Amino acid sequence: MDAPLLTVTDLKKHFRVRRGVPWEQAGVVRAVDGVSFTLRKGETLGLVGESGCGKSTTGRCILRLLEPTAGKVVFDGLSVFDASKEEMRRLRRQMQIIFQDPYSSLNPRMSVEQIVGEGMVIHRLARGAERRDRTADLLRKVGLSPDHMKRYPHEFSGGQRQRIGIARALAVSPSLIIADEPISALDVSIQAQVLNLLQDLQEEFGLTYLLIAHDLRVVEHISDRVAVMYLGQIVELADSQELYRNPLHPYTQALMSAIPVPDPTVKRERIILKGDPPSPLRPPSGCRFHTRCPKRFEPCDRQEPVLREVQRGHWVSCHLY
Ligand code: SF4
Repeated sequence: MDAPLLTVTDLKKHFRVRRGVPWEQAGVVRAVDGVSFTLRKGETLGLVGESGCGKSTTGRCILRLLEPTAGKVVFDGLSVFDASKEEMRRLRRQMQIIFQDPYSSLNPRMSVEQIVGEGMVIHRLARGAERRDRTADLLRKVGLSPDHMKRYPHEFSGGQRQRIGIARALAVSPSLIIADEPISALDVSIQAQVLNLLQDLQEEFGLTYLLIAHDLRVVEHISDRVAVMYLGQIVELADSQELYRNPLHPYTQALMSAIPVPDPTVKRERIILKGDPPSPLRPPSGCRFHTRCPKRFEPCDRQEPVLREVQRGHWVSCHLY
């Protein structure tokens, strides 16, 4: 089997927080706390969890937009955290990000031509007429018109801006795209269009995706595998079909139970989790999910479970298995 394109091993990102007021304790927010996974070439891995679970921080650490606290990331055989400045420049071309908010991620003072062409300038990929032709071609590929080149971001709808963001990422011919909640700021009516576009582009350019989302529904159809995160850790990872058919971790089961079933004759019992996720500043002892878990039992608040392969390709971190 080919070596994975991306290997993430025991990635940690802790943020030190200072005291706001004298009686408040300083501490460490364990935003990402020991995340490991691999990503095969051409694959889409969905990374899912509630807001604040560390999924976006994971994506940003992989790209070194945030400096990690510990761990290792290897991209195409190269250790990202040990990369020299020159190696990092090359890696930045090969690993691109699509941001959640198409409104704030595009510079309002730059025209579409400048936004999409910027990466080609930085990485010296094309100049002058060639750059303009490539930009026009990319705009067509993402469903916009070359006539849009001279326009500015405020002249576009949210969906169109996200298409500009996708064209910007594609401009430097990357192999990995980290899509950080790429549709959550968009109207429901255009979310599917943008997901379909991402799928078409993956086929055409052989892209590999890490697709970050807070909703399991978003990643269901587009992901080959799905990893579920809770409070800075992956609690379950499996092939997409297997995870949706046979969720094992009580947290995944609860997320799954919230997805409406299209068939009215099928009844699915909704599992309502009590309370909000605990603060990553003071994660619960033992299993981090034990304060909300409907299935917790004797060892759960004392012993931390580890992520184990309980069926072929199906990993879960829970004392039940
Ligand atoms: Fe629930 Fe215990 Fe499993 Fe944690 S280890 S998910 S508390 S059953």
